[in-house]
Amino acid sequence: MRETAVGPRVLLKRLRELMQEPLEPQERLDRIVRDIASNMVAEVCSLYVLRADSVLELYATEGLNPKAVHLAQLRLGQGLVGTIAASARSLNLSNAQEHPAFAYLPETGEEIYSSFLGVPVLRAGRTLGVLVVQNKTMRTYRDDEVEALETTAMVIAEMIATGDLARLTRPGLELDLKRPASFGGVSFNDGIGLGHVVLHEPRIVVTNLFNEDSEDEVRRLAAALGSLRLSIDDMLERRDVAFEGEHREVLEAYRMFANDRGWVRRLEEAIRNGLTAEAAVEKVQSDMRARMMHMTDPYLRERMSDFDDLANRLLRQLMGRGPDDVAASLPKDAIIVARSMGAAELLDYPRDKLRGLVLEDGAATSHVVIVARAMGIPVAGQVKGAVSMAENGDAIIVDGEEGTAHLRPQPDLEAAYAEKVRFRARRQELYRELRNKPSVSADGVPVDLLMNAGLMVDLPQLAESGASGIGLFRTELQFMVASTFPRAEAQEELYRDVLDAARGKPVTFRTIDIGGDKVLPYFKNTAQEENPALGWRAIRLTLDRPGLLRTQIRALLKAAGGRELKVMLPMVTELGEIVQAREIIDREVRHLSRFAHLLPTSLKLGAMLEVPSLLFQLDELMKAVDFVSVGSNDLFQFIMAVDRGNTQVSDRFDPLSIPFLRVLKQIADASRRNHTPVTLCGELAGKPISAMALLGLGFRSISMSPASIGPVKAMLCELPIAELEAFFEDNLPAPANGIPMRALLQAFADDRSIPL
Ligand code: PEP
Ligand code: MG
Repeated sequence: MRETAVGPRVLLKRLRELMQEPLEPQERLDRIVRDIASNMVAEVCSLYVLRADSVLELYATEGLNPKAVHLAQLRLGQGLVGTIAASARSLNLSNAQEHPAFAYLPETGEEIYSSFLGVPVLRAGRTLGVLVVQNKTMRTYRDDEVEALETTAMVIAEMIATGDLARLTRPGLELDLKRPASFGGVSFNDGIGLGHVVLHEPRIVVTNLFNEDSEDEVRRLAAALGSLRLSIDDMLERRDVAFEGEHREVLEAYRMFANDRGWVRRLEEAIRNGLTAEAAVEKVQSDMRARMMHMTDPYLRERMSDFDDLANRLLRQLMGRGPDDVAASLPKDAIIVARSMGAAELLDYPRDKLRGLVLEDGAATSHVVIVARAMGIPVAGQVKGAVSMAENGDAIIVDGEEGTAHLRPQPDLEAAYAEKVRFRARRQELYRELRNKPSVSADGVPVDLLMNAGLMVDLPQLAESGASGIGLFRTELQFMVASTFPRAEAQEELYRDVLDAARGKPVTFRTIDIGGDKVLPYFKNTAQEENPALGWRAIRLTLDRPGLLRTQIRALLKAAGGRELKVMLPMVTELGEIVQAREIIDREVRHLSRFAHLLPTSLKLGAMLEVPSLLFQLDELMKAVDFVSVGSNDLFQFIMAVDRGNTQVSDRFDPLSIPFLRVLKQIADASRRNHTPVTLCGELAGKPISAMALLGLGFRSISMSPASIGPVKAMLCELPIAELEAFFEDNLPAPANGIPMRALLQAFADDRSIPL
């Protein structure tokens, strides 16, 4: 590569010296623009910095009227400088005044300059300002000059990002880097969290920008790229089931990018211009991100994120860094901001420091969200753009109720949220007071309010919420957060810990409910399923793989030695499945007693009612089991034919509508007729209005997430159940014309001051 007198290397060398001198920020900027102008033989060099109010302010100039510094301003998109900032692209013009976007700023006296080269000051793809050189003569700047100016802009971006220029901003104004930003998304778990950003994939801060020897750096880059490619090949060749499907596609994309010659060439070029390999990766990445930021094609944007991940991996290779020790450096009010993450990764963070989670991707039923819910932290999902706008340590609010996130919030917004948190805390206080009150309706009917759980992290909530037991323990969660099948001992240990923590309160363990949307990365279903919700899942799968069920049953029996054991089967479709499962259980009981193991004092077997076929054999079902638990999430999905995970349709129909309410009534009636206890453990149980409806339909036991116990109990204490039963007697067979049941129920509650 040619090295000229104005070559980037010479300029970068000067900059390095300037950065090391103990100078005031303004003076440093003045010297930088002066040096750039002289190195590039330009009459003008100016730096504009983007403020939070979307105005580009002149921060330093060599050549223009010095009095214009901090006075000359352009809006984002206005003039050449505003155009560069808005598009994040350089402009190289031999006759600037001919450009349609040219805007003349009288205070600068720039009318006499013809040629113009402006580059965006970028960091992590965000525009922080614009750096410009100008000449009187008409000329086109060479590629190496453009490259030199872009590289210099990167150094300035670091100065802005580290807060060096903050002292130069006028009171009341702020730089764009500190601009408040609000993001809309989807509510994944209720709650409000105020805290500070912790980027799950921390942006690696490259501190060493300038290289001593380009060839050395190119070699270092080649070595790091070599190991990166090897590690990707290795993952792909492992044929590990963990890397099937989407995972594999991402890896294939990584491999393609890692071998992309254009990328490698641009990296080498940046190094030859004087940057370290790390700084080169950052520069090329930042340029690409800025360009792709404006793309709307979701596929390409997704690929860009893959590319980001890859660049981050390459940086780690170059800096020889493993994942940071997060626990040690975590603020005490951490809000994790991630593109996406695995459930186990979330569990790596210490619970006592977590205040919330913001995900750019994810679905409400994704594993990480299930775990976050179990941990009781607010989650906003599908919050696009949060990762690139956030810096570690920024103040942030996550609103899990609305599904929004507010980055660097203004004081009034923060105050409003602090008030909201206080309000919620007061409400929690009321719920806590209810905790030890008997769980009885206003007219004296006792009701069991149970909680759903699935991991050890849930268990402290049993005492805190005042739940009378665990109505649904989702055993598959242990399988979902593990990287291989949990061994029999690990299963037994968890079940024993759960029973110990429950201190005699009843616990209902559901046998593993995998398949459908609950996939285990290490357990492959060889058949491609078009309708996984209707496919090989839950009891169907475990009856086909009896080894799995046997191991689990044995672990449960051993863990519950000397105590009561309640087990239920998910997704039962026909009674024969219960018979088969019972045979397996009986065999395990015989096996354990042969070896003189302590057995449970009683063993109750139940079935989940989630598949409509059971509705047509309710009496037989009630006789075939010791208890029934309605999985209303699945039952509703199958009754209404709406995919519960598809946000386009999942809220389309109301569970509190006549057909579903009638279904629920039939179940409650059959339970009474047959003296078989019934519980309902889907999401319906957790919302006060639907919980109220369930009680009116005859349910006396419902199981919900622990956070719902307080609000549901508050409703229960004010509810005259007999009146609601009478209401249903009147309205369910002959609904009031045209008025939705939900509205009627709301009116019922309002008339009686029942808190919903
Ligand atoms: C249900 O389907 O309502 C249920 C409780 O089970 P899950 O949500 O785990 O499918
Ligand atoms: Mg279910």
